[in-house]
Amino acid sequence: MLFSYNLAFESLLDITPDIIKGQCAKGIILDIDNTCTTHDNPVPIEGLHEWVASMENAGIKLIIVSNNHEPRVRPFAELIGLDFVCEGAKPMPKGYIEGCRRMGIKCREGIAIGDQIYTDILGANLCGMRSILLRPIEPEKTMFFRFKRWAEKPFLPKVYRRG
Ligand SMILES: [Mg+2]
Repeated sequence: MLFSYNLAFESLLDITPDIIKGQCAKGIILDIDNTCTTHDNPVPIEGLHEWVASMENAGIKLIIVSNNHEPRVRPFAELIGLDFVCEGAKPMPKGYIEGCRRMGIKCREGIAIGDQIYTDILGANLCGMRSILLRPIEPEKTMFFRFKRWAEKPFLPKVYRRG
């Protein structure tokens, strides 16, 4: 189903390398906004560096794919030491395909992690990729986002797992 995901977690930090390997994934397509930090915030959530290192130490590849622009994405990606695709046009497949190409994996070997059904999750499904939905770090205030969050409601999990 286009709006379904494999797992749902409270926080990115609840996802362990074993969980990724349990999904038979070799590489992670990672969202930034409301996944790794709040919107427009240059500071990663506490523990993100260690989380990235734990994945890399387990042999799992990572790349950031964001719909945001380069001035937002590049400094953040560089801060946590990851390659990135900006203006990824999620849910269109192009950013996912480019991300997987750079990680040297097939789309079906990737797993997308993000907070939005109609971008992160839909795009993963359009590419035949697995996905993990996260609870957004904080609620957005703009009308556009409030509409999007309302429209997501039928597809949200009853419970988000914790690590
Ligand atoms: Mg996001």
